[in-house]
Amino acid sequence: MALFGSEDQPRRSAVVLGGGMAGLFAANVLADHFERVTVVERDDCGAGEWRPGVPQSRHVHVLLLRGVQILRRRFPGLEEELLALGAPPLNWLKETAALAAGGWLPRYDLDLLGYSVSRYLLERQMREHLQRSDNIHFRYGHRVTNLCFDGDSSRISGVICTADEQTVTLRADLTVDASGRSSRLPRWLEEFGYAAPRESAVNADVGYATRWYRIPAGWQADWKMVLLGTRYPDISGGAVVQPVEGNRWVVTLVGYAGNHPPTDEAGFEAFARGLIGPQVWDAMSAAEPLSDIRGYRRTENHWRHFESLNRWPQGLIALGDSVCAFNPVYAQGMTVSALSAEVLDAVLRGSPSAELGLVFQRKLAKMLQTPWRLATSDDFRWAGRAAGDASFLDRFMHRYVEKVVDRIHRQDTCLTFFNVAHLISPPISLFRPGLALPILWSMARAAVFGGRRARPAALIR
Ligand SMILES: Cc1cc2nc3c(=O)[nH]c(=O)nc-3n(C[C@H](O)[C@H](O)[C@H](O)COP(=O)(O)OP(=O)(O)OC[C@H]3O[C@@H](n4cnc5c(N)ncnc54)[C@H](O)[C@@H]3O)c2cc1C
Repeated sequence: MALFGSEDQPRRSAVVLGGGMAGLFAANVLADHFERVTVVERDDCGAGEWRPGVPQSRHVHVLLLRGVQILRRRFPGLEEELLALGAPPLNWLKETAALAAGGWLPRYDLDLLGYSVSRYLLERQMREHLQRSDNIHFRYGHRVTNLCFDGDSSRISGVICTADEQTVTLRADLTVDASGRSSRLPRWLEEFGYAAPRESAVNADVGYATRWYRIPAGWQADWKMVLLGTRYPDISGGAVVQPVEGNRWVVTLVGYAGNHPPTDEAGFEAFARGLIGPQVWDAMSAAEPLSDIRGYRRTENHWRHFESLNRWPQGLIALGDSVCAFNPVYAQGMTVSALSAEVLDAVLRGSPSAELGLVFQRKLAKMLQTPWRLATSDDFRWAGRAAGDASFLDRFMHRYVEKVVDRIHRQDTCLTFFNVAHLISPPISLFRPGLALPILWSMARAAVFGGRRARPAALIR
């Protein structure tokens, strides 16, 4: 446990702007370093499954295995609670029908044990855990309207909120922006003379449409979850069937490059029937719908590069979607929030408080490089000319990963691929010699002698 306070700046209080996943992971870490942590959330989080601040929670939220591992460590007992509340346990690979980059992943039983839970239940239980801590407090129904700057604008000393038409000022030694994709942080900083961050964006024009269903009594299938990925350029439609608590499926249809799934019933069902795997339509057509169909289109990969600013106020950090939001198809956002909190923990243990802000943003940016590359590499192609020309490295990686997927029937290749996709291993592990040498050899032969890429056998069902 780190010490409260430090030689230069006190660590008495921290305020977290936003009680979504990134805010909750951050509060969990901050409670080890600050005497008092206050989470400020504009929504009233007690009112039912849907709250306006996180419209995405109506859609599939898959928790990658790395996220599960971090939760086990940082929120002991949470997994048992989720399972007791009906979240289905999931043996990844064995119980998932998954089509990735044109190849069906084999169903090995490798004890890759996680669970499948709605975003709502996961968030609620994490919040309940935090509320049991003496030094974490929640202020619901509080909308942050600006930051408090000290006189010379070099230091942030908290936030200004409105609640019940009253203005409330919350002072803090550290302010954490976790207010999501629509964060107003760049605007607030600009108002006080700071430069706007450079931004990177790759928009593959992905649309979601989602409906919830009751799983039919006696339902039998050789899968618990279905993940139908896309493949550039010929398969632009995908889908997920996610089992969640309450014996329900969340069915999300996904379309790239403007091929958005419709939100009217006939169009939604026609899209599902046209998918490459039969599983999604088989499930939907047997099940009772529990909700209307909702669309979602704000899916651009978007990174605000706070780390490259020269000037940054003391007493402030930002994390979660407020810094880097991903195309949700890759299911990285919640796990990256967990990883960001781990970076925060390491920085709080190692850096004097006065330097903390930019040190944190730079270490965070380093961590973000891997999920950003994983999400944007393929999206770059779908985004087409709007994203500019793919670099040599990107083009090489596309070809290389396709070759990895062609070998996915081998258990060691499959596990390596899985661990990279679940943010457990770095992408460099795809280049271990046993895997890389035959692939690089075949790529070199194709470059010298030419060669057409065969349609993978895995696609022919
Ligand atoms: C359609 C969709 C599907 C997704 N699927 C997955 C998935 O399968 N797996 C996965 O890991 N991730 C998924 N994500 C990403 C995931 O939702 C986020 O990355 C993750 O929740 C981290 O977000 P956050 O906490 O930074 O922001 P959010 O979850 O958006 O939370 C921000 C919070 O800040 C609050 N807030 C905002 N402004 C203010 C203010 N001024 N004052 C007070 N409070 C404020 C909001 O009410 C909200 O509670 C998906 C995202 C979308 C859009």
